[in-house]
Amino acid sequence: MITSSLFRVEASHQERKIVAEKDLPADTLLCRFWGPLISYSDTKSLNQKESYALQVSPDTYRLLDPPYRYFNHSCEPNCGLNPALDLIVIRPVKQGEELCWDYSTSMLERDWNMTCHCGKTLCRKVIGDFDRLPAPLQQFYISLNCVQAFILQALSRKVQKAS
Ligand SMILES: [Zn+2]
Repeated sequence: MITSSLFRVEASHQERKIVAEKDLPADTLLCRFWGPLISYSDTKSLNQKESYALQVSPDTYRLLDPPYRYFNHSCEPNCGLNPALDLIVIRPVKQGEELCWDYSTSMLERDWNMTCHCGKTLCRKVIGDFDRLPAPLQQFYISLNCVQAFILQALSRKVQKAS
């Protein structure tokens, strides 16, 4: 497992979480997510560990290695995952704050949903595909370059079909 001077893994009620080791300004690069490539059908045999599979194309996933799998979801995240799988801080973070990103920014599969207990004011309760987010939130993540490329491609195809 890689170690970083920017964050550390801690035990939490949901298994594990990742917290900032120090105050971090926006645009800080935290790490690049990685793990072996697996297919959609492979993700179905992961059971409880299905949330470790990061969708990177319509039928391809990366089974995230530790510690990348321990970054939890939040509906009001302080990090975002860009198309190169770099996890970037998107607003200033205080030392000790949990580092989270929005899992919907890598989901377009019409299958897996996750119940969310992030406790944020804007919590969506059920986390699902990107194209089902409210349009302003989609635009917010797109403007930050924190949406996976296969999703943007699928959305642009949809727009082309409609016009
Ligand atoms: Zn939530």
